[in-house]
Amino acid sequence: MDIWALSEQFGVNAETGEHGNFPHFLGSVAGKRVLVITDENTLPISEEIASALTKSGSEVLRLSYPEREPVADEKTVQTAFEAGKSADYLLAVGAGTLNDVAKRAGFLLGKPSGVFATAPSMDGFTSGVTPLIENGFKITRSAQVARDILIDYDTLCSAPRIMLGAGVGDILAKYCCLTDWRISSYFTGERYGEAAADLMYQAVKACDESVPALVRGERAGVEKLMDALLISGYAMVLAGSSRPASGAEHHMSHFLEMDFLARGERIPLHGVKVGLGTAVSLWLYHNLKKFPAFPGAERVYAEAEKLPESGYVLGILGSLGCPTRFSQLGVSRETVRRMLFEAYKIRDRYTILTLYCGRGLMQSAADEILDLFY
Ligand SMILES: [Zn+2]
Repeated sequence: MDIWALSEQFGVNAETGEHGNFPHFLGSVAGKRVLVITDENTLPISEEIASALTKSGSEVLRLSYPEREPVADEKTVQTAFEAGKSADYLLAVGAGTLNDVAKRAGFLLGKPSGVFATAPSMDGFTSGVTPLIENGFKITRSAQVARDILIDYDTLCSAPRIMLGAGVGDILAKYCCLTDWRISSYFTGERYGEAAADLMYQAVKACDESVPALVRGERAGVEKLMDALLISGYAMVLAGSSRPASGAEHHMSHFLEMDFLARGERIPLHGVKVGLGTAVSLWLYHNLKKFPAFPGAERVYAEAEKLPESGYVLGILGSLGCPTRFSQLGVSRETVRRMLFEAYKIRDRYTILTLYCGRGLMQSAADEILDLFY
C-alpha cells in the first residue's frame, strides 16, 4: 500500500524524506513564517528540518518547551496559541503531545499545522480531534487534521524502544477494537462499517507480520508500523467515529489515566496502557466459554477463535521494553480491579467489557485476570 497516495485521498501530505529534505512541504511553506514546536527531547532532532526551512525561504520561529515531557493541557496549548499568533504555520517536532498541541492551537488560530514525527508511538497523527487535560480531567477537543506528516525513517528507527512498543500496542489493540465493533453490531444493532474495518484490518495484519523485523530494529518493521498508525486515523474518518481504533482496551487505558491524573503522577505512554488492556480483552474473549452460555454466545466464541492469545501480545510488548503487567505501571491492584468493573462506563460503546459486566461474569473472572496480569 502506498501510504502517500492513500493519505492524499484524505487530504494529508504524508511525505517521507531524509535530513530535512521534504520538497513538497518545504515548497508549500516557502516565504511563510513557520513556528517549530519542540520540547527538550526533540529540540536536537529539529535542527535538520529547521535549517531546511530556512534554506528554502521560510522564516523559522521557535517554541521550545523546557520540559522533557510537556503535558497536553490548557497551559501548554495556550503557550503554543500565543507563539502561533505571529506564525503562518505550526510544525510540531514530536509525537503524541506536541502533535496534539499543534493541532489544537492551529485549529484555534485558524492556521494550518503539521508534524515531523519523532516516534511511531500512537495513532493520533491523522486524527481530527485531540485529547487534552483540562482541570485535571481528560477531554476530547476539536482540532484539525495535520496538513503535513513528515516521516524520516532514520529518526523513527532511533526512537526509544518503548515508544515503538507503545505504537505496536496501539495497533495490535485494533484486533480487539474491530471484534468489539462486530459483537456490538450483533448484540446492539450498531452499524458496522465494512470499508473502515477492512482498511484497518489489512494495516494491522501487515504491521503484525512485520513485528519480527521491528523487534530487530529494521526499517521495514517501522514502516509497516507507521503505515498502520496513519491508516488508523483514516479508518476513523471513514467510520465517522473512533470505533475501528478504540474499544474496551482504550476504555481501560482511559480509566487508568484518570487515576494517574488524580494522583498527580506522570501518565505512562498511551500505547503501553492500551497494550495491557489488549491483553485483558483477548483473555476475556478466549475465556468466555468457561462461563455459562447465553443467547448469541456462539457468535462471540467464533470471533474469539480469530484473535491472537494475550500471551502473544505481551511477548511482543515485552521484547520492545514495555511493561507486561499492570503492577509495572505504578497502579494499585485495587485500581485495576475497579477498572475491570467500571471502565466500560467511560463511554456508551458496547465492548467485551460491557458484555462481561452486563452479564455479571466479571465477578467470576476478576481474580484470575488480576493474578495473570497484575
Ligand atoms: Zn490509541
